[in-house]
Order: sequence, then C-alpha cells, then structure tokens
Amino acid sequence: MRLQDIDKSYVLQTYARNYVNFVKGKNSILYDDNGKDYVDFGSGIAVCSVGHANPRLAKAICEQAERLIHVSNLYLIEPQALLAKRLAELSGYDVRTFFANSGAEANEGAIKMARKYGEVEGEVKRYKIITLEHSFHGRTITALKATGQESMHNYFGPFPDGFVYARDIRHVYELIDDHTVAVMIELVQGEGGVQPMDREEVQKLAEELKKRDVLLIVDEVQTGIYRTGEVLASNLYGIIPDIVTLAKGLGGGVPIGAVMTTHKEILKTGEHGSTFGGNLLSTRAALEVLDILEEYKQSGGLDHMLLLFEERLKDLCSRHKELFEKEVGIGFMRGLRVKEGRDASEVINAAFEEGVVVLKAGKNTVRFLPPLTLTKEEMELGFERFERALSRL
Ligand SMILES: *Cc1c(COP(=O)(O)O)cnc(C)c1O
Repeated sequence: MRLQDIDKSYVLQTYARNYVNFVKGKNSILYDDNGKDYVDFGSGIAVCSVGHANPRLAKAICEQAERLIHVSNLYLIEPQALLAKRLAELSGYDVRTFFANSGAEANEGAIKMARKYGEVEGEVKRYKIITLEHSFHGRTITALKATGQESMHNYFGPFPDGFVYARDIRHVYELIDDHTVAVMIELVQGEGGVQPMDREEVQKLAEELKKRDVLLIVDEVQTGIYRTGEVLASNLYGIIPDIVTLAKGLGGGVPIGAVMTTHKEILKTGEHGSTFGGNLLSTRAALEVLDILEEYKQSGGLDHMLLLFEERLKDLCSRHKELFEKEVGIGFMRGLRVKEGRDASEVINAAFEEGVVVLKAGKNTVRFLPPLTLTKEEMELGFERFERALSRL
C-alpha cells in the first residue's frame, strides 16, 4: 500500500492534505522524498520559528530527552519555572504563566480565568466574553464558540453560553453589558486574513476596559514570540493585557501552549491543570527558542530581515497589480490580498509547483509566515520562485 493510501484509509480525513512527503529541512528549506527542495514561507503555520532542524534546538531537545522528558506537575519542573520567569522578563509584564499544549487549550485556560474572575469580582455574576468577527481561537468546543465565524459552528452544539461577536473594535463598546467579563482579540487576525488591528483603537480599548473592570484577553497564539518583530504583539501595540495566550512559535515545533496573566491569584490549587502541560521537554525547547530569538533580536538581525522582507513583498505587490489588491500584515506575518475574481489557491498551488510554500488565510489572502531565522539568500530564492509562479498564471 502506498503511504498516501495508508493515510487515506486510516487517518481521519479532516484536512485538505497535499500529499507531498517532506522528509528533512534546513532552516527555511524543506526537502521532499524525491529530493526536491522548497523555500518554506509557511513554517508549519508559524510554528517553526527558529527554522527546521535548528542545531541548537535539536541539541537542547536531545539532551533533555536523554535525561528526563516528563515527570508531572505534582513536582518542581526546572525549565518550566525558568520559562515562566523568562516570559515575564521578556514581555515586561508582571505575570504568572500556566502551561498547556496548544493554542486552543491555552485559550480554554484564558476563558476559565475570565469566568472565574467574573464569578468572584463584582456584585453580579459576569460570564460574557466578546470576540471579533473573522477571529480564530481554536477547535475545542469552547474555543470554537469563541471563534467569530458562524460557518464553523455547524453540527457541534449545544455550545457554552456567553459568547458574542463584535463587527470590529468600535462595535465592542455597544455589546458590553452588566454580564460582560472579558473581551478577547487577536492584534493581527491570522486565519481571518492577516488583518492587523488599529494601534490607537486597541490602546483606547485597553484603557476603556480597564475603567469598566472588563478583562482584555489577547490571543497571541500566532502573533506571539517575535512574529511581529517584538516578543509579543501586545508590546508592539503598547498595551498591558490582563491575559495573553501563546502557542505556535513558542516551542519551535514542540507542542506547547501558555496563558500569562497579571491576575496572579485568579486560579487556585486544583482549579486547572494539564497532564502534559509545561513538561521538561516542551519547556526546555521553548527556553532554547527564546534564547535563539532574543539573541537574534538583540543583534539587530531580526529587524533588518523584517524590513527587507517587507520591502521585497511591497515591491512584488506593486508590480503585480493585475493579481493583488494590496499587501497586508506586520513583521513576519504578511499577506497579499488577491483581487476580486482571482483565486488565492491558484497562486498557492503555482508557487508550490515552483518550490515555494505559502499559505491561504481568509477567503482571498496569500499568507507568508516564514521562519523568523529566514536568511537573505533563502528570501531571495523564495521570491524568485514565487515570481516565476506568478508569471505562469
Ligand atoms: C492557530 C491558532 C489557534 C489554535 O491553536 P491550536 O494549537 O491549533 O489549538 C488559536 N488562536 C490563534 C490566533 C491561532 O492562530
């Protein structure tokens, strides 16, 4: 049986899978089982933040695995404690962190924290959480309900109560009532189409919510860990959220999620937990990822490459007005909006054939999420191939 047929027979078919078989990688280059190479402008959906087969990350993981992979959260876990400290220091926020295994699970934790806050703070019980249309918060029942895309809510009800969707940030104020406990947003909507929020509107929202004692939860599962150029997009936007969730890029490919909160006492012993969350392997990996990326940021290398990438993408966009309406995004979270009547998938497929991996976001956006360690040579090669793909359309 061919591998592809084994997959089709035995794996639940929940993905529109491209049956390429990637077998190895080196920073931003992927190789398939025929030896063909691809420039990876997707990094496993913003996960492989330090590139593929990063030697420092591989060494850290190997050394940890040879010593101890997992104990239990019933015991002290050295890299977990150090990672929590590191996240507080790098973000500059006065926070404690809970560790989970994925973005959805981190958001579940955030929602539980907000619900608890609504239960114990104030006279009436508050439970409503406002999220935005076109948002994406994950696939568990509650994270799915938090996701402001009605089309994703088919089949799986009944859902937990208390989620309402605002058209945009300005509309949030109209929806706040006596039962509202939190507002949850992405600062750059990722899955929704690489849509950055307006900085001033976000700052005003943060201020208003503080006045009304409504929590601000920022879902940084995609934007977090230098994706926008700063360790958190919240830093870039100049706000201090009550809760920040992380996942994708934090472990460099090792599954990990995190919920950071300034409400350090909100959950008490026994009120939340995870068997795997924050184990020795994943937190050791995340510590190494942060070391690598912080050094790179401090050296000026990251900011330099972000600028080059932006220039290159803007230049490409301006020379392909027949296809693209505009360039969108921040840092290494970028997109090209295709014109009405054109199809983002057609661009993505052509690019793939030429040996460059890009992703789709929303209905009509070609999305770029390269490894944060992308080199100039890899970038040039990727754009060369991308342009060759466009010339074929
Ligand atoms: C990917 C993503 C999630 C879900 O993360 P999983 O690890 O797939 O559960 C949640 N929120 C945002 C903003 C994301 O981009």
